[in-house]
Amino acid sequence: MKKISIIVPCYNEEQALPYFYKEINNISKEIKKNFEFIFINDGSKDKTIEIIKKYSQKDKRVKYINFSRNFGKEAAMYAGLKLSTGDYVAIMDADLQDPPSLLPRMLEIIEDKKTDYDCVGLRRISRKGEPPIRSFFARRFYKLINKMSKIEMVDGARDYRLMTRQVVNSILELKEYNRYSKGLFQFVGYNTKWLEYENIERVAGETKWSFWKLFLYAIEGIIAFSTVPLAIASITGFIFCLISFIMIIVIIIKTLVFGDPTSGWPSLVCIIFFVSGVQLFSLGILGQYLSKTYLETKNRPIYIIKETNINE
Ligand code: UDP
Ligand code: MG
Repeated sequence: MKKISIIVPCYNEEQALPYFYKEINNISKEIKKNFEFIFINDGSKDKTIEIIKKYSQKDKRVKYINFSRNFGKEAAMYAGLKLSTGDYVAIMDADLQDPPSLLPRMLEIIEDKKTDYDCVGLRRISRKGEPPIRSFFARRFYKLINKMSKIEMVDGARDYRLMTRQVVNSILELKEYNRYSKGLFQFVGYNTKWLEYENIERVAGETKWSFWKLFLYAIEGIIAFSTVPLAIASITGFIFCLISFIMIIVIIIKTLVFGDPTSGWPSLVCIIFFVSGVQLFSLGILGQYLSKTYLETKNRPIYIIKETNINE
């Protein structure tokens, strides 16, 4: 019988976990497969790990990975994928925003011999329940990143997906430190079937993503999957050189024809401000890429495990 690994990153999820476990347990009874639930405790400050350990004592299918601190969801997903052993692997949030009830349908698609899908992903077609400003910027972000990157990022795509072992192994090949999973999943390719659904609000607890965190994550995505910002910096520089060259000629001619009255001080100050602004901005872009490169070259581990019951 084939085995399915369910990977669940958890950070301060003591409130949502009981609902999640109940739901996934029910669903697993409907599916005739072996199961393995891998809960990753990503340095929670509440009782998350105690709850997971309690489940693991009465349910042999429950595995836990306890991180030494909060490493972020990306790291948690990577650890889960790495330690999973299933023929199929699914990633799910603990807050039931990725409904486990869709799993049988996803499995049906991936096992269908006629269609040859390696991966089934979930896509939200609405963002109801989300602050409008967040939705607005999210939409802008997807437009922007898709213009800048060769890899297509799917608007509304969640991390919830069911993959074959082959896809998982390909993802594990990508060992970078700055992980932007939405891009990594697209990068490895394979045939992905997208299922669409209406947004569901989290069952309990609260979101860990502030607007600022999401903004930084968006920048991370752009830096990781596009070098267009660097090109923008050099193109802007080139255009400015051209403009200044024309201006020099104009000024020389003007001085020769009309003499040299000392004026134009305010415009000069404005130009200095503007140009130094552009310079700092370009330097900032360069710095972003440099900092990412710096972190990659350090080759630090993506996560550190304090304890786990896998391979016991
Ligand atoms: N999460 C995590 N580490 C973090 C932040 C979040 O493992 O540093 C987990 C969290 O427990 C949840 C999932 O990632 O299972 C998605 O987080 P959340 O629901 O807060 O994000 P949202 O759905 O609001 O985008
Ligand atoms: Mg959520």
